[in-house]
Amino acid sequence: MKLGFIGLGNMGHAMAKHLLAAKHEVAVYNRSRPKAESLRPLGARVAETPADAARGAEVVFTMLADDPAVEQVVFGETGLLAGLAQGAVHVSSSTISVALSDRLAQAHEKAGQRYVSAPVFGRPDAAEAKQLYVVAAGPTADVERCRPLLVALSRGMSVLGEKPSMANVVKLSGNFLIVSMIEALGEAFALARKSGIEPKAFEQIFQAVMGQTPVLSRYATLISAGQYEPAGFALRLGLKDVRLVLEAAGAAQVPMPFASLARDHYLAAMAKGMGDVDWSALAALAAERAGLPVK
Ligand code: NAP
Repeated sequence: MKLGFIGLGNMGHAMAKHLLAAKHEVAVYNRSRPKAESLRPLGARVAETPADAARGAEVVFTMLADDPAVEQVVFGETGLLAGLAQGAVHVSSSTISVALSDRLAQAHEKAGQRYVSAPVFGRPDAAEAKQLYVVAAGPTADVERCRPLLVALSRGMSVLGEKPSMANVVKLSGNFLIVSMIEALGEAFALARKSGIEPKAFEQIFQAVMGQTPVLSRYATLISAGQYEPAGFALRLGLKDVRLVLEAAGAAQVPMPFASLARDHYLAAMAKGMGDVDWSALAALAAERAGLPVK
């Protein structure tokens, strides 16, 4: 299939590679060109603009940092909306707001184009290893048309319904759960350390008793080692997601006090210049509040 892929950061680069490996014709675009050039040897066409990436494509993926990045890439003068053919599909995999997802659905519909929301769970190493989990939503025929592509870059997927932003609600809810786990783990490790228990010893017991959840287990390992760099998922993007959770919760009149607390903790981390470390460094703040030394 003729495809476009826009946004080749920690996640998008690996996802685009799987589509190339599945023998699709992929045009790639990235704001900083070297990341796109690195895919040329694998057979990618390097596009000059988002519109150029969409030229002749049946399906175009976007995997960008946040709402402003997606707005710029889609609605800009040489943007995706301008370049995507009638009937072609935009698959949006970035973690974006419910409101922007609704706006994209409307804009593409007005332009005679199709839109599927397909955010993913899993960090960059999962993306490399084809172990992402996709949550998709959109008109059934469009989701089914994209299914082979989503399967090519993941270990599985769930389809939530016909309204694309349903997938964004699920993705944001999932990230809220992960943030809550990180905060709880950070506080538990701080208490253990303050009581003279070695983080590794605490982690081993924790893994044996309740570490069977892969996500929980993964973050316990990172927090035990105090290893927050290089970031698999940057803290500034974690703050972005918690803000999106609160935005969606506000619109739906759903109080989420844990999310508010996490937002403030992420703000504190940003104020300390920690925007580029991993989002699990929330645990370093818990340790610091307990008067413990942190790396
Ligand atoms: P990343 O490494 O920071 O990459 C961000 C991408 O967005 C880069 O291609 C960047 O281009 C582009 N970008 C940023 N601002 C832009 C703008 N104004 N105009 C055009 N392009 C712009 O982020 P990531 O970790 O791959 O995450 C991408 C998305 O996936 C985010 O929505 C994130 O929340 C979500 N996600 C991440 C993870 C994870 O563990 N990392 C897991 C699941 C979902 P440059 O290369 O030019 O900077």
